[in-house]
Amino acid sequence: MNILLINPPNCGRSIPEERYGITSLKQIFRGEPLALEELAGNLLEHHVRILDLKAEPDGLHQALLDMQPEVVGLTGVTCEANTMLQLAGTIKENCRATVVVGGIHASNDPAFFNHAAVDYIVVGLGKKIFADLVTALERDNGKDPSLSGVIRTNPGGQLNHGPRVRNSVDDLVMERPPAYGLVNRYRSHYVLEKLGISMGFVASAYGCPYSCSFCSIKGQTGGSYLAKSIDEVIRDIGLLGEVPVIRLVDANTFGDVKRAAALGRALLESGLKKQYLADIRSDTVVRHPEMLREWKKAGLRALIIGFEEIDDASLAAMNKANKAGVNTEAIAILNDIGITIVGDFIISPEYDEDDFDRLRSYFGAHRIDLPMITVMTPLPGTSLYTSHQPRIINHNLDYYTLTNAVTPTKLDEKRFYTLYARLLADSHQNVRL
Ligand code: SF4
Repeated sequence: MNILLINPPNCGRSIPEERYGITSLKQIFRGEPLALEELAGNLLEHHVRILDLKAEPDGLHQALLDMQPEVVGLTGVTCEANTMLQLAGTIKENCRATVVVGGIHASNDPAFFNHAAVDYIVVGLGKKIFADLVTALERDNGKDPSLSGVIRTNPGGQLNHGPRVRNSVDDLVMERPPAYGLVNRYRSHYVLEKLGISMGFVASAYGCPYSCSFCSIKGQTGGSYLAKSIDEVIRDIGLLGEVPVIRLVDANTFGDVKRAAALGRALLESGLKKQYLADIRSDTVVRHPEMLREWKKAGLRALIIGFEEIDDASLAAMNKANKAGVNTEAIAILNDIGITIVGDFIISPEYDEDDFDRLRSYFGAHRIDLPMITVMTPLPGTSLYTSHQPRIINHNLDYYTLTNAVTPTKLDEKRFYTLYARLLADSHQNVRL
């Protein structure tokens, strides 16, 4: 079959920009569409093309004309969900393709896509399920397939979800690597923003066993932690050829410490001369500093850590299962080892002047090489969404970029964004990456 896989364009909107002319808080996504490359890697029997609208924003009509796809797959995060629907509408107007949506928003909030322009919603990892769906569509020639994890849309009516999928390692289909070659023409767009160095994405593990209230990752695997085999991770890195920096895009690369230690050793022995960026929890850093010393020898350049907040009460309110003191200890350990820290922090719309000052003081007292600051956002499908739903004043998902307040700010709104932008700019003055 002719299958077109589409990565939506950058489409998130910015309240501070639109209302107050503050342009520095606009969220721009960069990087290759790994989820689509993984899907394509399991569609070898078909003619597949990936259209990355972040790299080629005006490419849709020509791609539809050139390819006449029979199936179109769309993925995206929450702030891209409206755009995915608009793209689906354009596709239906211009060709007869079956339109399938998937990704993290579709998994957490499938009802959003119960729309006339969408035929099927794939829930969960999708690599195996999407290929099964394509096979069934081809074999049964239009008859609705009944597959766990695939929801047939029912515009105007209720969705029949079927049993909730719980993905297993079989769904990783790891013997079939991502089809990196399908985005070769876009490769120059995939750079590490701060340094302008080419960066490739590799997935080594999916999901996370923790349940932080704000985090949408549960929808990916239903709460399981699923890791690729070490050989297959090394293979995928090798497939990226000369690309010097590898971003392991896992929610938590070190979720299984024994395996992570083995992966670090394998990277060292592989002879691959790469630098790595990966995600870790601060409590793992504190418990296993020796493992990270080994990873540093293997090329680990930077760790991304969700510190989120700077006091225990706020961390407990997020169900982070971690302590502020552990965060501080992890920072000291990584400073000592010489691993760059990219620290994620979440500011609440409830922040007042003192809260901003406290966070500023924390950045002054702790060496975090690149603080990343987002606004607490109740994403559909999370427990934060359930608890905050009555307080949400902005339901337009275009604004769910994690840099907009969609619940009321305690400070005057302009003041909130002014302090936010100032804190971000000041904390990025001496970025070390
Ligand atoms: S924020 Fe991190 S630790 Fe918490 S659930 Fe998400 S991935 Fe897991």
